[in-house]
Amino acid sequence: MTRSKGRRGARAEQAQDDAPWSIDQFQVPEEEGKTRFHDLGLHPSIMRGIAELGFEYCSPIQAQVLPHTLQGHDAIGKAQTGTGKTAAFLITIFNDLLENPLEGERFLGEPRALVIAPTRELVMQIAADAHDLGKFTGLKTATLIGGMDYQKQLNLLGNEIVDLVVATPGRLLDFTGRRDLYLDHIEVLVLDEADRMLDMGFIPDIEFICSKLPETRQTMLFSATMPPPIEKLTKKFLNNPKRIEVSRAATTNKDITAFKIPVKSRQKRETLRWLLNHDQVETAIVFANRKTTVRELNKSLQRHGFRSGEIHGDMDQSNRLKE
Ligand code: AMP
Repeated sequence: MTRSKGRRGARAEQAQDDAPWSIDQFQVPEEEGKTRFHDLGLHPSIMRGIAELGFEYCSPIQAQVLPHTLQGHDAIGKAQTGTGKTAAFLITIFNDLLENPLEGERFLGEPRALVIAPTRELVMQIAADAHDLGKFTGLKTATLIGGMDYQKQLNLLGNEIVDLVVATPGRLLDFTGRRDLYLDHIEVLVLDEADRMLDMGFIPDIEFICSKLPETRQTMLFSATMPPPIEKLTKKFLNNPKRIEVSRAATTNKDITAFKIPVKSRQKRETLRWLLNHDQVETAIVFANRKTTVRELNKSLQRHGFRSGEIHGDMDQSNRLKE
């Protein structure tokens, strides 16, 4: 794709809802020890998205990260899924882009912010959150993921100016390698679930991508654990980052009772069937640590009359989404 001019005029139509809205419609009382989004000086269109999502107070990671990242500083968040880390980095990105509008012409295929995540599902989840949080900002998000039609993703980039790209590392490299995407205007970079990217062998790709980005940019890295290769990555590509560590929100699984059943290996399937049949189970998720086990277990459950499906990394994306 060659760099062609975008249609700036379309931008005004992009805000999804033109009904007048005022911050008075979003009242949240001050509360000791809690940070309100109101206290952070966010752009009103982001506040509206937050109000519509029903968020009232910042989660602990948001309360700790946002005061730094909203000032443009780099950050490392040691945090798991469920802590609200996605909203923390999306709010930072949107606020930065809205508070620093670009003067002059914009070009197709030149996003201002980039989020890299290890899996297609995570990319899609981040993009869905970006859609909700950014609903009233007029900012555009595109997703680049492997296993899905390259041309469709390219068409989107060729049709309108995209502000934020959320991508898996491999597909991102395909786009930059074919000059369908240019990263020389990236102002904010997020590396999400960095430790999973390490497990999946993506660190050389990440290093390559980081080396192509402008040096003056803001970088945020989130990871549940900080093994040495990730520490090394932060030293190389982050600039004086603020480190924040939060544990998973305790509320995530307070309604779940965990128990352990010691069984011999060959009794596992029978025990699982007994549980599914006798414990008034209507829906269930079963995890296994190997793709072959998932496949065999699914077949076995189906043979025994259960309406089950499988999902794992060897399936193509459309089947994964169907499941
Ligand atoms: P994450 O850790 O980013 O996967 O977010 C976990 C869940 O928390 C998502 O469903 C978010 O929509 C929700 N969430 C994020 N921030 C807040 C907040 N401040 N208040 C309530 N829910 C939130």
